[in-house]
Amino acid sequence: MIAIHSRRELEAMKDACRISAQALQLAGELIRPGITTGEIDREIRRFIESTGAKPNFLGYGGFPASACISVNEEVIHGIPGTRVIREGDIVSVDVGAYYNGYNGDNAATFAAGAISAEKQGLLDATREALFEGIRAAQPGNRVGDIGAAVQAYVEARGYSVVRQFVGHGVGTNLHEDPNVPNFGTPGRGPRLLPGMTIAIEPMINMGTYDVRVLDDKWTVVTADGRPSAHFEHTIAITSDGPVILTQP
Ligand code: MG
Repeated sequence: MIAIHSRRELEAMKDACRISAQALQLAGELIRPGITTGEIDREIRRFIESTGAKPNFLGYGGFPASACISVNEEVIHGIPGTRVIREGDIVSVDVGAYYNGYNGDNAATFAAGAISAEKQGLLDATREALFEGIRAAQPGNRVGDIGAAVQAYVEARGYSVVRQFVGHGVGTNLHEDPNVPNFGTPGRGPRLLPGMTIAIEPMINMGTYDVRVLDDKWTVVTADGRPSAHFEHTIAITSDGPVILTQP
């Protein structure tokens, strides 16, 4: 079942989303060569808890940290730890907060120091693909319109869309109906209605779209070891169009 939120409920959800966005912004400020992924995670947790919110990834399905931090060929669900970020890495951070009964969820890929033009191209295309997807999230459109927009944008630039993981509804639960794939057919899937809140999150690979999960049971990596990027916003469908809720 897809939840439809009232105007008041959307208003209440804004706080969780704002805190989520501030946590992501903090991660971006911290990322530099020499810092460990564990240190970034600790600062994120400290910040979220300082607002009175809870890191909603912590303990979710047994996940052991407050943020997923995925480096280079890691696509999503990287577990923060002793890994040291190096010059030229691209670092994807996915983080959310639970506050006042609602969840926020957002992600971005950051550059550590100077990165290759190839990696910069991937970052730029993935960020822009997210906005292509958001622009397609108009009331009356269908979920397939979002995926089709993301897919067309990135494939035209020679990148590939991860198939095995998708975006999702988000609200009182971190993951709700509907699934929001980053690929698809225009005009297919559930209709988008005012009051729906969804997380659009393209995971875009430089090479093949195939991925696999490491022995830690969490970290998703590209099958060919080439880099991957990930950008995500929580948005609300409104009668005026899509509204990005995860704004700092
Ligand atoms: Mg998400």
